Amino acid sequence: MRGDPVHRRCAVVTGGAGFIGSHLARRLLEEGYAVLCVDNLITGSRHNVAELPSIGPFRLIHADVTQQLRISADVDAVFHLASPASPTDYLRYPLETLAAGSAGTRNTLGLAREKQARYLLASTSEVYGSPGVHPQPESYWGHVNPIGPRSPYDEAKRFAEALVTAHRATHGTSTAIARIFNTYGPHMRPDDGRAVPTFITQALRGSALTLTGDGSQTRSLCYVDDLVEGLLTLHASAVPGPVNLGNPHEVSMRDLAALILRTTHSASPLTFTNRPEDDPDRRCPDIAYAREHLGWGPKVGLEEGLERTVAWFRSTIGTHAESAEAL
Ligand code: NAD
Repeated sequence: MRGDPVHRRCAVVTGGAGFIGSHLARRLLEEGYAVLCVDNLITGSRHNVAELPSIGPFRLIHADVTQQLRISADVDAVFHLASPASPTDYLRYPLETLAAGSAGTRNTLGLAREKQARYLLASTSEVYGSPGVHPQPESYWGHVNPIGPRSPYDEAKRFAEALVTAHRATHGTSTAIARIFNTYGPHMRPDDGRAVPTFITQALRGSALTLTGDGSQTRSLCYVDDLVEGLLTLHASAVPGPVNLGNPHEVSMRDLAALILRTTHSASPLTFTNRPEDDPDRRCPDIAYAREHLGWGPKVGLEEGLERTVAWFRSTIGTHAESAEAL
């Protein structure tokens, strides 16, 4: 543990018991921050943060960011990650997702303003919708269906970006918007519906890997350590964003399934089901802005990232990683 406890900086991480938030909280502790994690555990889990108090001053506050946040400590950094994030989760919790992006963003911006802390919004590549431009630069306005099944998530994040931008202009709050592209790694739930945990779980259990459509649709997958490095670098800068953070290496779902079968040494077959409505065909970040203004780029290749992720799933399958924690 580094840093003088008297002068320790304090970071609030909303959604800190989730997949990305728990990795971010760990890195912040390692950087010498005290971390207050605000999470209602709707899609996260206490298990994700169980080890963190042994690394540094860490507290899990079981609270909903859509309600008023009362934090008495001085706060230097606010990272707003709280939101259902996987399609399975936001289809199940559409109203909660809209509330996390609207009231949750308003409340966390209020906290940052009160504490004069730098604020970072975890936005998403979903603001680009089903994109007509490849790869997607930050200047692309997107192609979003405002009443489609994905709209609670996409529009919540678009509204959140607008709120952050207006707050910055009106109150001078130091803010940053990160547009995060598909990220993977340890602490994903096997049942969260995203391709990587779904395929790994199926492969390790010897059941068929379910591809949607013909599996030719692509995603660009960023290992979570790279993403967290990008979030910290953006937060440490004065850049307002939005900034795309993701790995531009594009992979088809069929190739991803094959790679996961190789990594897990599994002989599972493939099965094919219908594509979900409004599922984007391609998703690939243009990260020229992040490279130029933050000096950031991903370092972990897909094979290495999958090795690390599979190792974690092997060690947890059948234990606490099975499902989100019940409230
Ligand atoms: P996650 O579901 O694992 O984590 C989200 C966390 O937020 C959970 O712990 C959940 O319990 C908490 N939460 C949700 N609503 C809340 C509320 N109202 N109050 C308090 N806590 C609440 O998801 P994740 O993949 O870690 O995503 C984290 C953030 O990053 C999200 O904002 C998401 O939109 C964004 N993001 C993630 C990805 C990705 O590939 N994982 C891609 C783009 C953007």
